Amino acid sequence: MNKVQGFYYVESNNEVFECKLRGILKKTNNKYNCVVGDRVEISEDNSIVEIFKRENMLIRPIVANVDYLAIQFAAKHPNIDFERINLLLLTAFYYKVKPIVIVNKIDYLTEEELIELKEKLSFLEKISVPMFLISCHQNIGLEKVENFLKDKTTVIGGPSGVGKSSFINFLQSEKILKTGEISERLQRGKHTTRDSNMIKMKVGGYIIDTPGFSSIEVPNIENKEELISLFPEFSNIDSCKFLNCSHVHEPGCNVKKDVEENKISKDRYDFYKKTLEILSERWNRYD
Ligand code: GDP
Ligand code: ZN
Repeated sequence: MNKVQGFYYVESNNEVFECKLRGILKKTNNKYNCVVGDRVEISEDNSIVEIFKRENMLIRPIVANVDYLAIQFAAKHPNIDFERINLLLLTAFYYKVKPIVIVNKIDYLTEEELIELKEKLSFLEKISVPMFLISCHQNIGLEKVENFLKDKTTVIGGPSGVGKSSFINFLQSEKILKTGEISERLQRGKHTTRDSNMIKMKVGGYIIDTPGFSSIEVPNIENKEELISLFPEFSNIDSCKFLNCSHVHEPGCNVKKDVEENKISKDRYDFYKKTLEILSERWNRYD
């Protein structure tokens, strides 16, 4: 289900139906009652009569039933913002959506710069996050990502100018979006609203284009233990000397030891400490 300017678009057997919300669903008057990505049942008069149970839901941006969060950056113009990658990874883990990282515009790089970039991104492998280096202009690596995303629903996020539209153009199925009145409205909607937009891919599956990641903040993590659980590299180390170790200033901390021995990325660890500070301030305010 896709939602554009108050219209609901439901795809079924390769056709798109413009639908209304059945009164009873509307009545709950809740912005979460029917969201982009929902699987729904529609009646003969094109009313959405039921919303099926969601597998997951992101709140900012609001989308449901997502398999992957694709974090897209450019190798250059603009440069990669590693802190932002970490924030988006944290967000993905928080919502229990698998993250992947896509770096576009690798055509700008010399061979040495490419090696350097791979080295800088090697921390992703340690936390089992798939990474793809692509160039939309030179058609490098595009099909590999496409195959990976096949039949899945992927939310794509990243700053503007990194080539998201170019990449989505490559992925999208022409069939549904280019013909007919509905698609015209869909196209128009895409440019005039800040809604998320669900796009069918030519290999099957969907890509959700969303502007909602530009203003992203640290999610509402409730306590230190929850934050630690969102750093996969902290989870399989031997336990620290103190049971409730925050991995910051305690002696006998195995996380700090792993950072010193380069087993855990220093940037990731610094990001952890910074996030803990931000959250601690929040927690203190509400105590
Ligand atoms: P968006 O803002 O993330 O949707 O980015 P666009 O798709 O609009 O692309 C921003 C600019 O980057 C445009 O001028 C594109 O032509 C350019 N661009 C996109 N992909 C590539 C690429 O692979 N290599 C290079 N050199 N430029 C690219
Ligand atoms: Zn520790």
